[in-house]
Amino acid sequence: MKTTKPGAPNEEMRRKNLGALLRYVHLNGPTSRAVLAEKLGLNRSTIMGLTAELTALGVVKEELPDDTCRAGRPSLVVSPETDRVFVLAFDVAVDRLLAARVGLGGVILDRREAVRQRKYPDLDDVVGTLAEFARQLLRNVPRDSVCVSVGASYCGMIRPADGIVRFGPNTGWVDQAFGPELERRLALGLPVRVGNEAHLGAVAENQRGAGIGFRNLIYLHGDVGVGGGIVVDGKRLDGNDGYAAEVGHMIVNPYDGRPCGCGSRGCLEAEVGEAALLSAANWPPGLTGRDAVASVVHAAERGDESARAALNRVGDWLGVGVANLINLFNPGVVVFGGMLRDVYRGSAAQVRNRIVADVLPVSRERVQLRIAALGDDTTLVGGAELGFAELLDNPVEVFRRGYRHRL
Ligand SMILES: [Zn+2]
Repeated sequence: MKTTKPGAPNEEMRRKNLGALLRYVHLNGPTSRAVLAEKLGLNRSTIMGLTAELTALGVVKEELPDDTCRAGRPSLVVSPETDRVFVLAFDVAVDRLLAARVGLGGVILDRREAVRQRKYPDLDDVVGTLAEFARQLLRNVPRDSVCVSVGASYCGMIRPADGIVRFGPNTGWVDQAFGPELERRLALGLPVRVGNEAHLGAVAENQRGAGIGFRNLIYLHGDVGVGGGIVVDGKRLDGNDGYAAEVGHMIVNPYDGRPCGCGSRGCLEAEVGEAALLSAANWPPGLTGRDAVASVVHAAERGDESARAALNRVGDWLGVGVANLINLFNPGVVVFGGMLRDVYRGSAAQVRNRIVADVLPVSRERVQLRIAALGDDTTLVGGAELGFAELLDNPVEVFRRGYRHRL
């Protein structure tokens, strides 16, 4: 395999430009050469050379635009090879396992889902199910397609360097070799990248969802617990070891708070998570999951007083958490994802009241509150983007080492 020699500035520049062009069409879809030249700040002959190389490689295609009636020679449109170039993406939540084949351009081409019993899952079971899903997904790929990487999102604290789950408060996992084990069981000869679900969700909403165009964003993801992802000046905040933004364990109610799965008391997650809402609403024990959360919101809309009171209480605590985050990070947008979409829908007035009361006036002048635009797929799409990251950094080498399924 050809590698870029250190100290070869032209090669390095070309690799960067190839990556920048591929990233642009991956995130923005079909784009004319003229627009690419303008957006990337490169001249048209450079763009022509780059698209020729990426076309020959097989990661983009060039076509005449649909609208060819205008006078003059039309600028060819460059599109990602969505059907041919893909990643395998996985999403491990407390209640469900998701696997998908996601094409370049971020299109979900095929997917599998398993709903799981809520008990502490076994590493072997989880990895075995995901590997079986992968086999099914790869069986259906078109001829000549290439899997360039594998990305997975996990509902707990991940060490990104090696994909070890350090701590999953709601799965009971401590120091489990999830990434390495998944890589071994898939046996595709590809690295498996693993990230925290809310970190990856923040990036997904920033690139493709409710946070497009924002340089500073906070994403709050409700599963059973509450995870957080923070984008600062366009970059994901990882912290020293990859464990940053555990906003669910920010202490908001230390003296009278509910016990949290992390062993502490009064964490944001303990006050606004699924269990807090269902118990405040006096919902029958045994009803859990997103449907149960949604049923509280619907009941409140129909005038059920205990559901309304529960949402008011939870919305107030959610507002306390968001207010602290706005004061700390001055985000342009706060995005609510997972089951917090329903909670926020049902308690937006409480959240906003708390922000008005507690956030410094100049910090809340322009902040927007939004619901995740990618719906149930925010964290899955985040896992896919983690998979695509290496290809976009180094298209030629990463595409060449990709897995080609023999039909
Ligand atoms: Zn906690």
